Formats: sequence, C-alpha cells, structure tokens
Amino acid sequence: MIKFLDLKKVNDAHGPEIRTAVDRVLSSGWYLQGNENAAFEKEFAEFIGTDHAVGVANGLDALTLILRGLIELGRLKPGDEVIVPANTFIATILAITENALVPVLIEPDPATLQIDPKLIEERISKRTKAIMLVHLYGRCAMNQEIEQICKLYDLILLEDNAQAHGCYYGDQRTGSLGLAAGHSFYPGKNLGAMGDGGAVTTNDKELANTIRMLANYGSSKKYEYRYKGRNSRLDEIQAAVLRAKLPHLDDDNENRRKIARIYYDRIDHPDITLPPTEDMRRNVFHIFTILTERRDELKKYLEENGVETLIHYPVPPHKQECYPELSGMQSLNEHPLTYPITENIHLRELSLPISPVLTEEEALRVATLINAFPKRL
Ligand SMILES: *Cc1c(COP(=O)(O)O)cnc(C)c1O
Repeated sequence: MIKFLDLKKVNDAHGPEIRTAVDRVLSSGWYLQGNENAAFEKEFAEFIGTDHAVGVANGLDALTLILRGLIELGRLKPGDEVIVPANTFIATILAITENALVPVLIEPDPATLQIDPKLIEERISKRTKAIMLVHLYGRCAMNQEIEQICKLYDLILLEDNAQAHGCYYGDQRTGSLGLAAGHSFYPGKNLGAMGDGGAVTTNDKELANTIRMLANYGSSKKYEYRYKGRNSRLDEIQAAVLRAKLPHLDDDNENRRKIARIYYDRIDHPDITLPPTEDMRRNVFHIFTILTERRDELKKYLEENGVETLIHYPVPPHKQECYPELSGMQSLNEHPLTYPITENIHLRELSLPISPVLTEEEALRVATLINAFPKRL
C-alpha cells in the first residue's frame, strides 16, 4: 500500500533529533513561553525572512489573530471586506468571519487553481481593505498583477502560508511578501509539529506585539490585560520538535519536487490534466493535484491497486452548511454569488501521494498505474 502521507515515516526520518529536542523540554521542566518557543520564533523568522515571528496554537488562530490585531490597531474595522480565493480551505474564511469582516470570494484561474487576479478588480468596493492571499497546495499565488492591485487600491496584503513553507516568490519566501502571514504546523503540513501549532510572521513590530498580547489573554505583563485576548500559545514541546525539523525543510521540499517531476514526466493519460509546470522554486508541492472528470472512478481504481489518494476539497466553503450567506442569489456588491469554476474544481480534483519520504520507485508505480487506467471509450 502506498499511503497518501506516511507521517510516522516522515517524523522517523528525523527521529533522533526530535527525541533530543523533546528530552530537552522534559529536562527543563518548562512547558510554555520558554526558551524553545523564543528560539523557534527567531529561527523561523530568519527562515521566512521577516523581523518577527510569533508562535501561536494553530494556523487558524494565526490568521484570526492577524486580523484581530489589525482591528485592535484601528487598521481594519468590522464590516471591512477581505478578498480571498473561493477554493481555499475553510480556515482562511473562518478567520475572516470570526472577526466580523466580510469575505469576498474570488474564483481561481482554472489552470493554476490560484486566485485569478483578473477577477479581483471588479469585486473591489469602498469597503475592500485587504487581500488574504492563499498559496494553495504549496504553489506561490503571488504575481505582479496582485502587487499592482494592492498598490492601486491601497489594500493590505496578508498571506495564508499554511501550505507553502519554504516556497519562493523571486528571492523572497512566501510568508514575507505582505504585512503579515499565518502559518500552520498541523502534522501533515510541509513543516509539521507532533500536534497543533502555528505562527505569524511580520516585519511590523507593533502588529507582532499586539498579536503576542492577544494570544496571551491580551496581556504583556502578568495580571494586566490590555485587550480581551485569548489563550493561543505554541507549547515548548511543539516548538522544540519544529526546531529539530526546520533545518531539514528545504531538503524535504526538494524531495517533494523530485516526486512532482516524476509525475510530470511520466503521467500521460487523455482523461487527466496535470497542474502547469513552472519555476520549481515557486512550488513546494504540499499537495500534487490532478484534475479529471472521472475523479471518483480513478480514486477507486488507485485504491484497489494499493494507492491512497485524497480530495482537496470535496465541498467548497460557499457550499458549507455554516455559510448560507456565501451562496445563492443574494448579492454582495451587486454580485450574484455563484462560483462555477470553484465547484468544478471540487468535482475533479484528486491529490496524489507526495511527501519528503515517498520514494522515486513509489512515484513511478503511481504514474504507471495511472497510465494503465482504462481510457474512456
Ligand atoms: C491547514 C490550513 C489552515 C489551518 O491550520 P490549522 O493549524 O489546522 O488550524 C489554514 N489555511 C490553510 C490553507 C490550511 O491548509
């Protein structure tokens, strides 16, 4: 059986270093807001290329706290609109609505599956204040058109970098392109903890300090509360594990690229569309997506032949029970709320196995199997 993602094997590859790291925490007797978190924040900021990183409890909190911080600082206010890709993972949208901000969903480019910059301008209103760019599937979503739109309309650029640790835009890492970025260290992400974890990166000291307080009950001094905060901290064990894994992230991503190259070179089937190739530095292949009208049939075929695949994602946010306001014919900005491109992607998307520990042999087996998938008559 070729697993979609063999997490035990991923972490076993760094087993001795992870054990040493966890042992360090056990011997220290210090579990929160200690040396490991401080050191990880410094090392992660350096890796991403920002002045500050703030460890938080998970990726959703990272995104939520960025927006909450901007509201506390008066740079956003409830009711402001935030541009966001319609086909993102639910957490990006949850962070926006949690802050009483209004998500404005933009359809993706059907080729890259990233937000389509050509569709952004027509949705900008007087209330539009920010773009939450999502580097979905590990592919850099930034481009010159988005840079220009941000300048022209004075929009705050924020990044959801949960799926793209290590990815580049030119010479900069994603996570350093805008005012602030949210990162997730959910175990299955490119940089994964052994439980939940997250971080915010930013060059804005005031925002970093505000988020740090918000994540610690709204306090920077014990028992004094400036904000109505929450408890969202990166614990010492997770920080230590992340410090052990971070130095290997670029190599781990390189293996993902090696697997992706095999899929690109070998998969050849008339019913299957591969994602466009590009400068490989712009993609860390968190997920290798293929598109096919025969998605469910192909998924079953691969399963029967010992290959596990997943779907990212079966149902888009605007079709979820929790978001009746995001679909239907009501109009925000006079716009009918329909997202046919997004819905079509969710019907056709299939994610192939890819990871730092997947071998060339396994990838070749997957490609060969796919090529032998009986063609439609
Ligand atoms: C995983 C993920 C998140 C949320 O991160 P958690 O750590 O699971 O809270 C947010 N956005 C995207 C795009 C993600 O993939």
